Amino acid sequence: MTKPDCPYSRRRFLTTSAKGAATIPLVSILGIGQVWAADLPRLEESDPVAMALGYVNDADATDIAKFPKRASEEGKTQFCDNCLQYAVTEEGWGTCAIFPGKLVAGRGWCNVWVAKP
Ligand code: SF4
Repeated sequence: MTKPDCPYSRRRFLTTSAKGAATIPLVSILGIGQVWAADLPRLEESDPVAMALGYVNDADATDIAKFPKRASEEGKTQFCDNCLQYAVTEEGWGTCAIFPGKLVAGRGWCNVWVAKP
């Protein structure tokens, strides 16, 4: 007795199903991560750590008497969105490794600023 010609073998079905099932959790995790980042509160300039590090939502409003690092011509080009610690999550805002759980302004700045390589 011969098997009928069928393009979909049981082995092929099981292999394809396993690959699909393995992909679902990864997609779910990535999707949830994006929702979490978008739901984060924005860092307040009045936050004690933000104040200690001179964080401002508008880098041009930096108190350069306290934080002269941003007073030079090179310093004036420093913004959160070109800082090593920044990862954009939504238009104009992103996460920062220095302020976990909060969003910082892309055009913001703090004294921890380090250039992206
Ligand atoms: S470490 Fe960088 S991204 Fe974070 S607040 Fe300071 S300047 Fe902005």
